[in-house]
Amino acid sequence: MMDSEGNNFDYDVVVVGGGPAGSTAATLLAQHGRKVLLLERDKHPRFHIGESMLPFSEPVVQRLGIDWSAGNQFKSGAVFIDEDSDQRMYFPLSVYRKAYQLERGPFDQVLFQNAAAHGVETHEEEKVLEVSCQPEGVGIITDKANYRSRYLVDATGRSALMGRQGKAIERIENLGKFAVYSHFEKIPPSPEADELFDCGSIYVPVVDIGWIWIIPLSGRRLSVGLVVQKDRPKDCDVEELLRRYLAASPIARILLEGAEQFAPVRVEADFSYINQSRHGLRYACCGDAAGFLDPVFSSGVFLAFTSAARVADRVHQALAEGREADPTLHADDDEDYLLGFNTMRLFVERFYQSNMVHNLFFEADRHPDLKGQIARLLSGDLWADDNTLQKNLLAGRRMAG
Ligand SMILES: Cc1cc2nc3c(=O)[nH]c(=O)nc-3n(C[C@H](O)[C@H](O)[C@H](O)COP(=O)(O)OP(=O)(O)OC[C@H]3O[C@@H](n4cnc5c(N)ncnc54)[C@H](O)[C@@H]3O)c2cc1C
Repeated sequence: MMDSEGNNFDYDVVVVGGGPAGSTAATLLAQHGRKVLLLERDKHPRFHIGESMLPFSEPVVQRLGIDWSAGNQFKSGAVFIDEDSDQRMYFPLSVYRKAYQLERGPFDQVLFQNAAAHGVETHEEEKVLEVSCQPEGVGIITDKANYRSRYLVDATGRSALMGRQGKAIERIENLGKFAVYSHFEKIPPSPEADELFDCGSIYVPVVDIGWIWIIPLSGRRLSVGLVVQKDRPKDCDVEELLRRYLAASPIARILLEGAEQFAPVRVEADFSYINQSRHGLRYACCGDAAGFLDPVFSSGVFLAFTSAARVADRVHQALAEGREADPTLHADDDEDYLLGFNTMRLFVERFYQSNMVHNLFFEADRHPDLKGQIARLLSGDLWADDNTLQKNLLAGRRMAG
């Protein structure tokens, strides 16, 4: 294929990384009529953490044409818990739009196969080693072949191909340091377990060194993890640390009593960062390749979907107008993306720095407006201009409550 200047290319766009961001960008570009290659180094289904979705992902999921309710646990909301005082606060999230708790292995496979069904050429087990973005086109070197494309989308997740190649990854300090987690099945019946699987909410018990997640998955299974923000006790390894905190948590203890662990204990470190080179000459990053936030508010896949959709629409438009070599192509979109990313970042920072759960979340029933504003942020409603809490966060003001 040729561009308007007579240069030859194998593809309009090569998308690197077949997670939610990459499969979304590739599918939407193919829907626009673009010739797309999607490269994934692993083979689907591959394990990935990140199972709790946000309802404001729904418009992008609908554009992809998939049914994300199929086989997945409905998620009605989020429950924050202080187990010392037995205080709980439930935020209903799936109000206008619906969200789900899902196993990422099969879900990411559905997204990847959906890209292929829309005409994307998909390659698994092909790792991109190097890319070169030049004024006249993009060169991609993998462990199997070389390609030339008019544009590159970097959706390599926390590998952040372009960000690391350009040494542009900037750590966001003072959020969670690492997560240690596992999966359990055959959760025995109890009033607490029945309530959890009925409402499908994510439970977030807040503990002295961070927080725990308890995510109900279909088939009466649970994803359970501990995110550590403060210095951890040094008298045990991380596996023992997880066991210790689950044993000390009344709700985790009740839910896991008699359950079977069916997955290894895994650890994810190297937490929050922003890629300061999110876009440039003939390339753009989306999803975790653009930035990653501590997962306390489950924002990762939502930001992956929404940033991928923005990038795909802009790149298609630029290709149609022959403007794809303009290095400032994504400048306006990026500013808008940062509005959402920074709102979530400030919200997460407040979670750790200001005892926000106690001072704000547990007070929310006395302030219905505030409760609604919190629920909107927790749903991924980040680009409206009428959320006072969001305005205060962005203005650096002390939050009410
Ligand atoms: C502990 C923890 C808990 C989390 N919990 C949640 C949650 O509850 N809800 C939520 O929404 N998010 C959560 N997240 C975040 C979520 O996992 C990510 O935000 C999400 O997976 C981002 O999607 P992505 O497509 O950008 O990246 P990924 O899903 O990581 O996909 C990137 C893909 O690129 C491939 N790749 C990488 N490098 C190359 C290469 N060189 N060549 C070819 N392929 C390559 C990888 O194999 C991978 O498949 C959590 C994250 C962590 C660490």
